[in-house]
Amino acid sequence: MEYKSFLIKYGEIGLKGKNRYKFEDALIQQIYTALKPVEGNFSVEKQHGRIYVETEGYFDYEDTVEALKRVFGIVMICPMLRFAERDFETIAARTVQFMQDVYGTEERSFKVFTRRIDKSYPGTSESISAELGGRILETCPNLRVDVHHPEISLNVEIRNEGTGIYSVLIPGPGGMPVGTNGKAMLLLSGGIDSPVAGYMIAKRGVMLEATYFHAPPYTSERAKQKVVDLAREVARYAGPVTLHIVNFTDIQLYIYEKCPHEELTIIMRRYMMRIAERLAGRSKCMALITGESIGQVASQTVPSLVSTNEVCTLPVFRPLIGFDKQEIIERAVQIGTYETSIEPYEDCCTIFVAKHPVTKPDAERIRKSELKLSEKIDEMVEEAIRTEERIRCTAE
Ligand code: ATP
Ligand code: MG
Repeated sequence: MEYKSFLIKYGEIGLKGKNRYKFEDALIQQIYTALKPVEGNFSVEKQHGRIYVETEGYFDYEDTVEALKRVFGIVMICPMLRFAERDFETIAARTVQFMQDVYGTEERSFKVFTRRIDKSYPGTSESISAELGGRILETCPNLRVDVHHPEISLNVEIRNEGTGIYSVLIPGPGGMPVGTNGKAMLLLSGGIDSPVAGYMIAKRGVMLEATYFHAPPYTSERAKQKVVDLAREVARYAGPVTLHIVNFTDIQLYIYEKCPHEELTIIMRRYMMRIAERLAGRSKCMALITGESIGQVASQTVPSLVSTNEVCTLPVFRPLIGFDKQEIIERAVQIGTYETSIEPYEDCCTIFVAKHPVTKPDAERIRKSELKLSEKIDEMVEEAIRTEERIRCTAE
């Protein structure tokens, strides 16, 4: 069977009236973006509350499906046979041909589900299903009807503009189309967690930008490249991601010089949040995103999270907060970021780690320690922001 069309089912709109078309338009936009690198000529159509992907001439079926499987908002991808005729005899002939083409001589059970979107169409949906079932049985001895647990659910949709037949349902990622829920700034390190965190927030329709704190020469060019690679991998789902690379070396060394070593990580994390919030403000990001999970390391105990939270006013989204490391790893494998994340290039946190970092930072003490930075830190933060490098990361 050579399909030329796909019916795209989208679920959780929950948004009715005015917002529905915004959702659909964003979804169509995201589908176009996802299909751009795929070989073929595609058009995406919206018809009576349905979205179809149409192809013209040769296209790569596998790549098309793979691309659609990464578009948030899609719940189901149904390769479909569409034709303009609506008379029963043509529908019956096409349906029988469809079953032969798709299932050949496989021994399978099936049930026909007919939907008459055009209610003036003669007959009831049940009677049409029964008649079509009969025609299939006459021609395909390998197929049998099972109305309770059919292996094949054959869907026939009769609409004003024509007929559609499909039996294969490929799950999409669900979620909401990117672009329907504003933009947020992901703190993206080279680790396993933050790319997954970005994926999860993008899945809810949020566009992403990202900030990486780079500390040359303590972190190598290769470590930076790894973060660019990760941003590209996240962009396969989230669409283009602008990555801000902030040189963090001087700030880190200054904290190292002035503050108690056991407070190093937490103070560093606080400056990362402050700078990310500044960059977020400039890029119209409405929230920050981190890959933190309660208790994973000293800087992620509840008191530590309270301490890092304290320095920003934007909401901080931490979608992995209740996940175990193993669960995060499974997601990373699933979305395809794991292999890159475990490449052995150090990120800046691993260089300056104290032997016994604080796990219950005292707000007053941390603030006091930060006062020791007052002479130069503001200027250093300004300099870091001034000299940020921006890279637009896309899927290819
Ligand atoms: P990850 O696997 O995401 O690196 P982690 O387990 O290494 O997380 P931490 O190093 O404590 O945890 O970092 C917690 C969060 O802070 C990260 O998930 C990320 O959002 C942010 N972060 C840490 N280091 C950096 C960095 N160098 N640049 C940007 N964000 C960072
Ligand atoms: Mg890390």
